[in-house]
Amino acid sequence: MREFDYIIIGGGCAGLSLAYELEINDKLKDKTLAIIETREEYKRDKTWSFWRVFDHNFNDCVIKSWNNFTVNSSDNSHELTNKKFPYQSIDSGKFYKKINSKLYANSNISFFKNLSEINSDNSIIFNSVHKKELDKSKLWQHFQGIEIETPKNIFDEDIINLMDFNCDQRNDVHFFYTLPFSKNKALIETTWLSALEDQSLMDYDLQLENYIKNNLGIKNYKINFTEKGAIPLFYPSFKKENKIINIGSVGGMTRLSTGYTFLNIQEHSKYIVKNIENIDGAKIFNLGKKYQFLDKVFLRVLEKHPEKMPKIFFNMFKTSSNTIIKFLSNKSNIIEDINIISKMPKLIFLKALFN
Ligand SMILES: Cc1cc2nc3c(=O)[nH]c(=O)nc-3n(C[C@H](O)[C@H](O)[C@H](O)COP(=O)(O)OP(=O)(O)OC[C@H]3O[C@@H](n4cnc5c(N)ncnc54)[C@H](O)[C@@H]3O)c2cc1C
Repeated sequence: MREFDYIIIGGGCAGLSLAYELEINDKLKDKTLAIIETREEYKRDKTWSFWRVFDHNFNDCVIKSWNNFTVNSSDNSHELTNKKFPYQSIDSGKFYKKINSKLYANSNISFFKNLSEINSDNSIIFNSVHKKELDKSKLWQHFQGIEIETPKNIFDEDIINLMDFNCDQRNDVHFFYTLPFSKNKALIETTWLSALEDQSLMDYDLQLENYIKNNLGIKNYKINFTEKGAIPLFYPSFKKENKIINIGSVGGMTRLSTGYTFLNIQEHSKYIVKNIENIDGAKIFNLGKKYQFLDKVFLRVLEKHPEKMPKIFFNMFKTSSNTIIKFLSNKSNIIEDINIISKMPKLIFLKALFN
């Protein structure tokens, strides 16, 4: 059976980002790489959005960038502007195509459907696939988004709506998210923060239909694209295995309070490539103990007091746009952290802290 220097299990966002980073930094000129991926074909399946707090390799896959965003509570709206860190959306279809066409050109890279097709005994393995099914009773961010197109120009294409809590909460945390790609095209998502067991929250089609009709006042539209997902808001417990480095969601690259993962994956890929000659001995990359701790307390409050979350999220954004963007993108300093923490209701956070 064939052997490879490196194996990447899962050719999704993290696996392909890492392979691309290795390739463009000439790390696969005299090394071999096997990518194990089960999917039959690559097509647009996700829209990855984030604040561009540092540059990445995929500017040519960006659908649109924005400098303005709003957050809505049931009776209020707050608008922020930031020219330094635009919010960007990436078309996953373009991302897969760009990376795969680059990788296919290197004969040191091979593609397989199953790990059992190769000998992995002496390889360094980067894994992005969960080993077992994750606990549905824990907290997840689950959602469905549709890209709609309208016959008339109705969207303000310069401003995104990050969170609109003016909707049915059903004893959990629920908001809508709107990204206007043009004056007549937008991605609209219904998002829940809850356990994944409650099927009654998953009437996403109906939720979207009602929101588009009643909140946005749009009667006539067609659906171009649908995406659906569930992001665990907890870190799966796994044993550290020799010569296996976890990447992507499995590697803890999701910011638990927000679900943002894409740019963290890019940072992790750069870290691995920088340390590739001694990756077994390198420190395990993480998003920072500070954010892990703060998110844990935040999610405890969320689980205990879902009814308070619309107000808590809304108030979090009542600060400078630089502060909130850097905080949500794990790039804040201590002053900025204190600024955000000071917006939180003291008593319930203190209780959650000592819980
Ligand atoms: C619909 C959706 C929208 C999202 N939007 C955002 C966003 O806007 N911003 C953001 O920052 N994050 C977002 N995320 C979160 C995160 O960025 C993505 O989930 C991202 O794809 C995680 O990358 P990954 O490589 O860990 O997992 P994936 O991209 O899911 O890659 C895992 C790969 O492993 C393959 N696989 C599965 N089982 C096996 C197996 N047994 N053997 C081999 N291969 C296997 C899968 O086919 C897949 O290609 C979103 C997630 C979803 C689901």
